[in-house]
Amino acid sequence: MAKIPYRLYLPEDKIPTQWYNLRADMKDLPDPMLNPQTFKPATEEDLYPVFCKALAHQEMDDTTRYIDIPEGIREMYKLFRPSPLVRAYNLEKELGTPAKIYYKFEGNNTSGSHKLNSAIAQAYYAKEQGLTNLTTETGAGQWGTALAEACSYFHIPLTVYMVKASYLQKPFRQAIIRTFGGKVIASPSDTTEAGRKILAADPENSGSLGTAISEAVETAVTTEGCRYVLGSVLNQVLLHQSVIGLESKAAMEMLDEYPDVVVGCAGGGSNLGGLIAPFMQDKLLGKANPRFVAVEPASCPSLTRGKYAYDFCDTGKITPLAKMYTLGCSFKPSPNHAGGLRYHGMSPILSKLYHDGYMEAMSVEQTKVFEAATMFARVETILPAPESAHAIYGAIEEAKKCKETGEAKTILFGLTGTGYFDMTAYTSFMDGTMSDYIPTDEDLQVGFDKLPKIPGIQE
Ligand SMILES: *Cc1c(COP(=O)(O)O)cnc(C)c1O
Repeated sequence: MAKIPYRLYLPEDKIPTQWYNLRADMKDLPDPMLNPQTFKPATEEDLYPVFCKALAHQEMDDTTRYIDIPEGIREMYKLFRPSPLVRAYNLEKELGTPAKIYYKFEGNNTSGSHKLNSAIAQAYYAKEQGLTNLTTETGAGQWGTALAEACSYFHIPLTVYMVKASYLQKPFRQAIIRTFGGKVIASPSDTTEAGRKILAADPENSGSLGTAISEAVETAVTTEGCRYVLGSVLNQVLLHQSVIGLESKAAMEMLDEYPDVVVGCAGGGSNLGGLIAPFMQDKLLGKANPRFVAVEPASCPSLTRGKYAYDFCDTGKITPLAKMYTLGCSFKPSPNHAGGLRYHGMSPILSKLYHDGYMEAMSVEQTKVFEAATMFARVETILPAPESAHAIYGAIEEAKKCKETGEAKTILFGLTGTGYFDMTAYTSFMDGTMSDYIPTDEDLQVGFDKLPKIPGIQE
């Protein structure tokens, strides 16, 4: 057989034209989202004030297996997709492993991450519905960047509430968002009631995702034609991200390959859910039996140490309640945490699959993550995002096991993005000043104690 190339880009006729909806093949579905006022299952209509109609429909659609990717979205996908499937020959050599390591690289666009896949879809449907504004929040900035790119393409004005600490620490991130025409407001701000209240009490407040969400949502509900959008966790976002897995599977088929294990980093679960989707379908249908490994930070361990419970998706407690692995919506990782993936919960779809034993999870300390990131960068020439480096770490662990057993397993992992805006964190790693923090059981209990009480369901 011919040597497998370093990078494989799918030919035009194999590029997916439909997304795959994993829920359609799950025998046991995630528990329904609940309306936070009535504790009744949320309906599609309940979601209309928050999401545009097409996305509310996708959010609730548990049965349509394949959903056409509209032409307008595929046109923009063409600007940066297909993304390459890369054979990590150099990493394999560095590790001296008999394993074959592949990664799907999603950092080949200006936003630098997979988030653009869903940002485009969300902006497209907003435009189609005639919405005139979108708001969102951003912490690290990747989501804000991706959405700004998508909104500029579809000519929709966007306001991004960026956590003030991150706004100040990452001036280039906000500059990129502004270059794409997005309006960036450091949160807390004086543009909303929520922001003004916090600033009145504490003028030096450096912000949080919770506050930024509250400001973005307040702006959305008080502005005509405006909606709020989210970049992870939701079913619709996993659906859009299935393009990652569909392309990966098609590319591996061309190489006559199939993964024994698929590894991904898990923040809110969107890239992992997208990457594993078509392989998980095979597992659910009994056609193949690959393993799936979610890798999360030890300082924000929602799958490995969280509770499977109903919780709010946001710190501001305005979203519907979702049944998921959660650390409690008030949970904040320690301030020394630099590796991203700081979300308190996990996609309800992935939570259910993990709960039912279809997926494994592991957590890792950030110094080990940056060790893996640095090793990878030096041999594979891509500077990985710290988030992505969790997956690199997981893949390396699998490859090392193969070295011990002599098995030539096929490993696929998701390389979600690049880390050019995380050089402060890289610097502290190289300077030896980065530390690890693992929350104690008592620390986590504080978050569990505040989980919402739902009569008859969760007392
Ligand atoms: C946002 C982000 C993640 C984590 O989000 P998921 O929804 O868990 O995929 C991972 N990698 C990068 C580069 C990101 O920007």
